[in-house]
Amino acid sequence: MLLDETKIETLRRLIEQSENVVVVSHVNPDGDALGSAMGLRAALARRDKNVTAMLPSVYPDYFGFLPAAESILVDEKEHDRCVETIAKADLIVLADLNQIKRTDKLAESIRQSAAPKVLIDHHPNPETEPMAVVFSDTDISSASELAYWVVCQLYGSDFINKSMATCFYSGICTDTGSFSFSCNHRSVYEAVGNMVETGIDINGIHDSIFNVFSESRVRFLGYCLTDLLKVHSDIRMAYIAVSLDDQKRFNLEEGDMESIVNYTLSMRHIRIGVLIKETPRGVRMSFRSKGEFDVNVFAAKYFNGGGHRRASGATSPYDFATTEAKLVEHLYNELKTNAQ
Ligand code: 5GP
Ligand code: MN
Repeated sequence: MLLDETKIETLRRLIEQSENVVVVSHVNPDGDALGSAMGLRAALARRDKNVTAMLPSVYPDYFGFLPAAESILVDEKEHDRCVETIAKADLIVLADLNQIKRTDKLAESIRQSAAPKVLIDHHPNPETEPMAVVFSDTDISSASELAYWVVCQLYGSDFINKSMATCFYSGICTDTGSFSFSCNHRSVYEAVGNMVETGIDINGIHDSIFNVFSESRVRFLGYCLTDLLKVHSDIRMAYIAVSLDDQKRFNLEEGDMESIVNYTLSMRHIRIGVLIKETPRGVRMSFRSKGEFDVNVFAAKYFNGGGHRRASGATSPYDFATTEAKLVEHLYNELKTNAQ
């Protein structure tokens, strides 16, 4: 993949001129948020930068296997330290997010900082105004793949070492559902081919990300599918709504709910799947589509959310019960006129 040479040169200069770099990704970080940010962190560290990876909220424990994961600053836990580090930064890299507000309570410090900002992302409609350089491609598998190509073009593919490749590969395999969607381009396999040559442990990475559940988490999945799953075959939609009480009963941890939404789409006739999750910080929603229905537009229109055409999320403006009612009501309204 060849990226715009002028942008690469601008970024090269910004990196050369910088000393203290912050790499930040989005709230409720997933594998791509961590993979892109930590891969870029490793690359900048190899260029002898004083680099800090930062996240607005905690990441699932099982990503602790990523190289240097213990060095990540989490705003939710250490807000003052994050603010100080941003204030000292002379370069800020934003990965896997299209809007600064996706950094949650870090957004204000980032906006106030005079440091040049670089965006590396794959969501639609990136915020360009405060950015010195924007790398944005909605066709690419993941922000991690894009970050990989940026680093490759800056410093050559030999510069990519096993630590960087482990991070980038983890992001790619989570954002493509282990290479089952958003991976219809040669570039992603080329990138992964190069990464394999650094000696990454593909089998181990998949085990670390996908085979990490407790017994209780597996039984919780059974409960979701047996008791909580609701199917509206007439509009080809299915959803699962999980209350805080349910989560307490099964002793769930951060990240334990990732991937549950995908079971809704595993039914042949279902085209739209939703997970509603009650949390102490509000009601989170995950939208997935395997048809033409654009869940990014739907999430933005009704729930103040966003994301991609086929995978979006939102923090609902309503309480748990109202969210469920509104979801069903709005989907019926949208779909009764539009045959999918
Ligand atoms: P997930 O359902 O896995 O939390 O999120 C799916 C996709 O939607 C991810 O690419 C994520 O970045 C995006 N997303 C999740 N929540 C939000 C949100 O509240 N606002 C916006 N704009 N995007 C979101
Ligand atoms: Mn992503």
